[in-house]
Amino acid sequence: MSRLSQEFDAVYFDLDGVLYRGLVAVSGAAETVSELVRSGCAVAYVTNNASRTPGEVASHLNELGIPAAVSEVITSSQVAVQILCKLAPVGSRVFVVGGAGVEQALLDAGFIASRDPRDCVAVVQGFGPLVSWDDLAQASYLIQGGAIWIATNLDSTIPTQVGIAPGNGSFVAAVRNAVGREPDGVGGKPDRSMMDETVAVVPAKAPLLVGDRYDTDVAAGIAAGINTMLVLSGVSSPADVWASKIRAGYLGESVQDLITEYIGPQESMDGYSCGEAKAVYLAAESVVRATGGTRLERLRAADSLKWALVEHVGLDSFAEGQISLDLGE
Ligand SMILES: [Mg+2]
Repeated sequence: MSRLSQEFDAVYFDLDGVLYRGLVAVSGAAETVSELVRSGCAVAYVTNNASRTPGEVASHLNELGIPAAVSEVITSSQVAVQILCKLAPVGSRVFVVGGAGVEQALLDAGFIASRDPRDCVAVVQGFGPLVSWDDLAQASYLIQGGAIWIATNLDSTIPTQVGIAPGNGSFVAAVRNAVGREPDGVGGKPDRSMMDETVAVVPAKAPLLVGDRYDTDVAAGIAAGINTMLVLSGVSSPADVWASKIRAGYLGESVQDLITEYIGPQESMDGYSCGEAKAVYLAAESVVRATGGTRLERLRAADSLKWALVEHVGLDSFAEGQISLDLGE
């Protein structure tokens, strides 16, 4: 039996939508990661959420049965501070907008993390549930006065137990409206600096990045030249796979597909097959129809056919729905 994990010597996991959703572990996540670690595969946990410290992230993962060490956690706060190191002398006083994760990353790198804007030469802005209008106003005044401005990440929304809430990107937009310019640096995915930092901390010859979003996870992998797997356990649906203008290297229902038998798509006489599934393009109906097999096999076959068709019909045909997907559901 061939497993996808055998192709890689490290797996870099996005967290929310991949290993857990809110406070609940994704089914099979703990068993999958434990199995990978047992087989000698290196792992890293790569999160755009800047509010928590690596220690807090590792503890949360451990509570879910996932064997994470603090040194295997890379947060967008840490990457933002690495960017700041290139722009301001270590030891500088930096205004903190965001949670303990931002503060801890600054302290670990030797900066003075201040909640008081006086004498600050830089602003690091990340998510925190207690960020206030006053924080955003003080940050805006500092930036207008010439301070360096680094954002941990630009995710416009953040999923919570209750629904979708504004994420750090929405707060960054509020400051951008006040100061009339972009941040001097951004730490999180899809910026490749996040993946460069991950490779530096958990080195690998053949790493795989597993994520649930195209616009952050898959885009970051592509920017850094790292292979990607898009899983359907988080925010992306088969419709998002169909509409995406970038391609994930692999598709999975969840992380469990790393350690179960891997069945890849193959070109066939009239389209693509994957296991028992077949996908064909019906030009008269402008539809790619996939039948047989499991949903994942149908989607893998259809996605391969889509990328084979792209050079003839263009990407917009899929993104804008001129060619639709029929998975038979
Ligand atoms: Mg995610």
